[in-house]
Amino acid sequence: MSSRMQGRLQGRTAVITGGCSGIGLATVERFVEEGANVVLGDIDDDRGAEIAEKLGVTYAHVDVTDKSEVDALFRTAYDTYGSVDIAFNNAGISPPDDTSILDTDLEAWRKVQDVNLTSVYLCCKAALPYMLDQRRGSIINTASFVATMGAATSQISYSASKGGVLTMSRELGVQFARDGVRVNALCPGPVNTPLLQELYANDEEAAQRRLVHIPMGRFAEASEMADAVLFLASDESSFMTATTFLVDGGIAAAYVTPS
Ligand code: NAD
Repeated sequence: MSSRMQGRLQGRTAVITGGCSGIGLATVERFVEEGANVVLGDIDDDRGAEIAEKLGVTYAHVDVTDKSEVDALFRTAYDTYGSVDIAFNNAGISPPDDTSILDTDLEAWRKVQDVNLTSVYLCCKAALPYMLDQRRGSIINTASFVATMGAATSQISYSASKGGVLTMSRELGVQFARDGVRVNALCPGPVNTPLLQELYANDEEAAQRRLVHIPMGRFAEASEMADAVLFLASDESSFMTATTFLVDGGIAAAYVTPS
């Protein structure tokens, strides 16, 4: 059987953070279809247990802001399956108290930096030694299209955190490019997930204010991000590293959108 028929990630071990919902969950499902051993890390233990049972993946409780828990997550993957081939560092938050810089207090700022940016530092730091030993690995960090363009509807700490994720991914991609390890940043446009639904629940005007800027005229579905992550995780993207991988329905390229 050709490796393609077996699945594009057959025999690979993937760690996915934030895999209990949205983009992470869609990616867990996609990776399982493609034959990967998946270790899902999240703080939502009830959902984690359900998903593990339904999809046959390994669930590990992890708060991605906690170094020892992150280290244990990657050790679990290695101890269970014998390698760490893919790290999809994806957990993130977008809380309502992170808005304009004029209104966002230090505590709200720090919380988002911890969960969205420090977490990616911790996950990359934990994954890299396994990958460098193997001389093989693909790290995909979830940034956002807001890392590449400004919004008047500010979430200041969120945007700054995603800028950090993008920059860190680029630097790591360059540093380890000759060691068999690729590092890329996924930059989604707005995706129809609980995170987004929470933001625009009961506020059709806020949703419309954004939709007008999207050439495709709709939000993405999580499965469309999972397909992009699969591409970056698989050997099909073997000459891609340190890239800003925009999957945004054309937002970042648009001046005037179709009416
Ligand atoms: P989501 O809210 O649907 O899922 C996020 C998951 O992360 C949840 O399962 C949650 O339990 C988990 N999580 C939160 N805090 C955690 C912590 N401290 N430790 C471990 N797990 C934790 O979100 P989503 O929309 O799927 O977003 C996933 C990623 O994509 C985030 O980094 C987000 O910033 C990014 N993103 C989302 C959009 C969008 O429009 N939805 C756009 C661009 C980027």
